[in-house]
Amino acid sequence: VIVSVSPEFEDCKEIAQRAQDHIPGGVNSPVRSFKSVGGTPLFIQRGKGSRIWDADGNELVDYVGSWGPLILGHAHDSVVEAVERALGKGLTFGAPTEGEVELAKMIVDALPSVDMVRLVSSGTEATMSAIRAARAFTGRSKIVKFAGCYHGHNDGLLVEAGSGGATYSIPNSAGVPEGYARETLVADYNDVNSVQRLFDSHPAEIAAVILEPVAANMGVVPPAPGFLEGLRLLTANNDALLIFDEVITGFRVAYGGAQTLYGIVPDLTCLGKIIGGGCRWGPTAEGGMSWSGSAPGQYVPGWHTVRKPACGNGGDSNPQGLAAPGTYEGLEAASARLADGLAAAALKAEVPLTINRVGSIMTAFFNGGPVEGWDSVAASDRERYSAYFHLMLERGVYLAPSPFEAAFVSTAHTPEDIGATLEAAEYALARV
Ligand code: PMP
Repeated sequence: VIVSVSPEFEDCKEIAQRAQDHIPGGVNSPVRSFKSVGGTPLFIQRGKGSRIWDADGNELVDYVGSWGPLILGHAHDSVVEAVERALGKGLTFGAPTEGEVELAKMIVDALPSVDMVRLVSSGTEATMSAIRAARAFTGRSKIVKFAGCYHGHNDGLLVEAGSGGATYSIPNSAGVPEGYARETLVADYNDVNSVQRLFDSHPAEIAAVILEPVAANMGVVPPAPGFLEGLRLLTANNDALLIFDEVITGFRVAYGGAQTLYGIVPDLTCLGKIIGGGCRWGPTAEGGMSWSGSAPGQYVPGWHTVRKPACGNGGDSNPQGLAAPGTYEGLEAASARLADGLAAAALKAEVPLTINRVGSIMTAFFNGGPVEGWDSVAASDRERYSAYFHLMLERGVYLAPSPFEAAFVSTAHTPEDIGATLEAAEYALARV
């Protein structure tokens, strides 16, 4: 089923050349650049279901899925129809709409920690607003984050961040004032003691601990048994808030997010990606207990904040119909088959490969494992991943152009897609 790829990518290269003239680095987000794996970024013309087509007309099975939102695959009919319907009614009003109320109710019903929702326009804004709420509520200024976790490009959160920061080993972004960075304390993922030490050395100074409850921006790293429980206890004992950044995991690892899967209730939750239905201008959210939206003196405005047409929500009572029975079971089965097949292919090829997977997000680390936090992630073989990436591309499979990102399986990936991907992986792993 995979359409053979012309390895020249001539049209993509020509566009990339022009892009360099007008866009810094030629791309608008660092991990798209192919800097990590080498070669020229693909310029995508269209997508449908599990497939994307590049400017040269190559048809590829896509596991980037726009980094998470496309849980139904590309251009799903129900999503496209909902967006078209909404567009016809006007783009933005700067006034409230009933759709916002329905969406908020849907989120409240889905997530155990949330009983009020403030809708914003990006994951970056959601985490920024959650942290402001936590600071306002506690009257403290410091926050704790984990090395390798990414929470958007807020100044104070670009400290030892995952995603592009991890790929290019940039511990801090230039342009972040030292004073901001000083308010951010960094702990080790899956190490509760590292958080305990920070509470000990900064008594009554820490407003909140923020984390991806399943890390996905240093590649997928699941929480070790007891880790989330330990953080819940530590934050409660120290009068600090626990913030789950579920921008990737919300409606992904379970309908009710990681907090449902692991049974841990945070104080604040940040959402994005899937609840926007793939529209960059769709809603994202910061949700928590009822006090969070009205913490003393806290200000979270936005002239176009939400009711960009309720993308993906489409007037249904759930995002993209995801609550339909069988959705997550189907994703689990396809993802398990992919992960098991990759592990078998690696064994056959005698390549050390550790596959971390939670539901339909997974990362294959070129590393004997276990991969449990930033140090073990960083010990992976980057050159081998680059070779694997290009061999998979040659066989028509588009993976993240970085070793430290997740692969996203959607409901549009068919058994044939998974089978063809595994054939490609056998070919690639035998040659890396
Ligand atoms: N948090 C997490 C966990 C993310 O993965 C991302 C985006 N990759 C963000 C926050 C930031 O979201 P946005 O790009 O919409 O600002």
